[in-house]
Amino acid sequence: MRLKNKVTVITGSGSGIGKSSALLFAKEGASVVVNDISIEKGEETASEIRAGGGVAVCIPGDVTNPDSVEKLVADSIAQFGRIDVLFNNAGISGVGALHEIHPSDWDRIMNVNVRGVYLPSKYVLPHMMKQRSGSIINMSSCVAEIGLARRASYAASKGAVLALTKSMQVDYASFNIRINALLPGTILTPFVENYLKTSYADNEAAIESLKKRQLSEQLGLPEDVAAAALFLASDDSKFMMGSPVYIDGGVTFGKNA
Ligand code: NAP
Repeated sequence: MRLKNKVTVITGSGSGIGKSSALLFAKEGASVVVNDISIEKGEETASEIRAGGGVAVCIPGDVTNPDSVEKLVADSIAQFGRIDVLFNNAGISGVGALHEIHPSDWDRIMNVNVRGVYLPSKYVLPHMMKQRSGSIINMSSCVAEIGLARRASYAASKGAVLALTKSMQVDYASFNIRINALLPGTILTPFVENYLKTSYADNEAAIESLKKRQLSEQLGLPEDVAAAALFLASDDSKFMMGSPVYIDGGVTFGKNA
C-alpha cells in the first residue's frame, strides 16, 4: 500500500497509461480522481476501481480549459480535502515533418500537451504549497531526447514538458514538492494503435519497425509506465527531483548496430 491515504489526480485516465496508473494507484491505497475529456471513458475507469474495492471519482474535463481545470481541482479538494499527487498524463499525438504541419494542428498539440500540464499544475500547486508536500509527474516522451522522423510538433511539445519540469522543480523545491518527468518509448495503447492504423498499411510490419527502434524485443505496455509513475508518486522516490525517468526499452540510450 505505497499510496495509502494519498489523494491523486490523473489527467487523461480514461484510457491507456493514465487508466493503468489509476488502477494501480488505487490498488496501492490511493483515492483517485479520474479526469478525462471523455466522461464515458473516465466513468469506466472510476467504476472499475470502485468495483475492485478502491476509492475513485470521475471529474471529467478538458485540461486546456482554465474553467474546467479550476473545477477539477476545486471538486477534488471538496471531495477529499487535499491533493498529494498530480499526474499530468493527458496528451495527444502529432505526425508530420515541420513543413507538413498545419498551424491549427501545431496549436492543438501544444495546447493539449503543454498547456495541459501548465493549467492543472497552476491550480494544484497552491494547495500543495499550503500542505508543504506533493508530487507532480509530468508526461514527456523519449522523443524529447532523440530525433525521430516526422514528429516535429509532438517532439517540441514533449521537450517543452521536460524543460518545464526542471524549471518547476527549482521553484517549488522549498515547499517540499517534487516534480519529475516520465519519458516512455513506444507503449501499446489506443494512442499508438490509432497511429499504426493511420500510418501503416500492414500492422505486423508496423510493429516490427517500431521494435527496430529499441533494444527490448517487446513493445512497452501501459503497466510498465504505470509502475514508474507509482514510484514517482510514492515516497520511495523522495530523493528524486526534476528528473527524467526513461521507460523506453532502450530507445534513448541504446543502439542495435
Ligand atoms: P491514450 O490512450 O490516448 O490516453 C490519453 C487520454 O487522454 C485519452 O483518453 C484522451 O481522450 C485523453 N485526453 C486527450 N485530450 C485531453 C484533454 N484535452 N483533456 C483531458 N483528457 C484528454 O494515450 P496514452 O498512450 O495512454 O498516452 C498518455 C500520455 O503518454 C500522453 O501524454 C502521451 O503523449 C504520452 N506518451 C505515450 C506514449 C505511447 O507510446 N503510448 C509514449 C510516450 C508518451 P481522447 O482519446 O478522447 O483523445
